[in-house]
Amino acid sequence: MTMELRWDPLLGEWVMVSSVRRARPWLPTGFCPFCPGAPETGYGWRVVVLENRYPMLSPNPPEPSKHRFYKTGRALGRCLILVETPEHNVDDISDLPVDQIRLVLKTLQDVVAEESRRDYASYLLWFRNKGVEIGVSLTHPHSQIYITPFIPVRVKRELRSFKMYLKKTERCLLCDIIRVEEEDKVRLLHSTPTWTAFMPFHPHWPFEALLTPRRHVQLLTELDHRELGDLALMLKLVLCGFKNIFRKPTPYMLVLHQAPLKGNHNYYHLHLEIYGVEREENKMKYAAGMENGGGNFTYDTSRGERGGS
Ligand code: ZN
Ligand code: ZN
Ligand code: FE
Repeated sequence: MTMELRWDPLLGEWVMVSSVRRARPWLPTGFCPFCPGAPETGYGWRVVVLENRYPMLSPNPPEPSKHRFYKTGRALGRCLILVETPEHNVDDISDLPVDQIRLVLKTLQDVVAEESRRDYASYLLWFRNKGVEIGVSLTHPHSQIYITPFIPVRVKRELRSFKMYLKKTERCLLCDIIRVEEEDKVRLLHSTPTWTAFMPFHPHWPFEALLTPRRHVQLLTELDHRELGDLALMLKLVLCGFKNIFRKPTPYMLVLHQAPLKGNHNYYHLHLEIYGVEREENKMKYAAGMENGGGNFTYDTSRGERGGS
């Protein structure tokens, strides 16, 4: 079995390599491993955290292979599944009551607190993929948690930008962006006393949202009772807004960008990003040659003019 990190020296980033997924057994149709009463879930829960049965990272990974030229590393970490409701037939997290979404976030907060104490845990990435269009095979509402021994590349890039901006201006980049968005107003999606959500000025995906707490915080565990409740409400409203675009559920990806778990990163500002990938009814935008090969995204502005606010 292979389960290791391989360093890409051309891009300077880790690739997680695992053969575990190939061992994925055939599941009888109609069986859902996330429903109450399944072998790993049991009964009597409203939200449950499970080990991902086909993880890319493990607290006890095998020794990585050795190569005379290429660098490898141990696939230390953890991959978890956050089952967001016992109800199988709910389509999306946004269909849950706000207090259930709040419970999902509270559970996630507890995982962040617990995992921060592990030696291997450099970072905790929470993400949610929605829609068969982007490869979601199990429809029972769930999201995923990767606890990684490295800082994900996009977060690393953001950390650098925040640091540079602070050095130049003595202010926080995202605190300044919140001010600009509230002055411009046109890209605002929704605001509460503790959070604001807007479409970025520089979107990568057809329908994109950035959700950020007004308070300059770095980790999910720093959010207080009220901020967590407001986030639950914001998630519901923004994701319901996404459904309204085509008057039906639309595929999206959601990710939490928080600071690394170790060290002091008080120059960073936590936020969530949501990428709606459907550009026209039943037509997906793909990260294709320019986006994947070049790394820069293209965006069609006629969409924003049609009612992006
Ligand atoms: Zn289910
Ligand atoms: Zn800030
Ligand atoms: Fe970000």
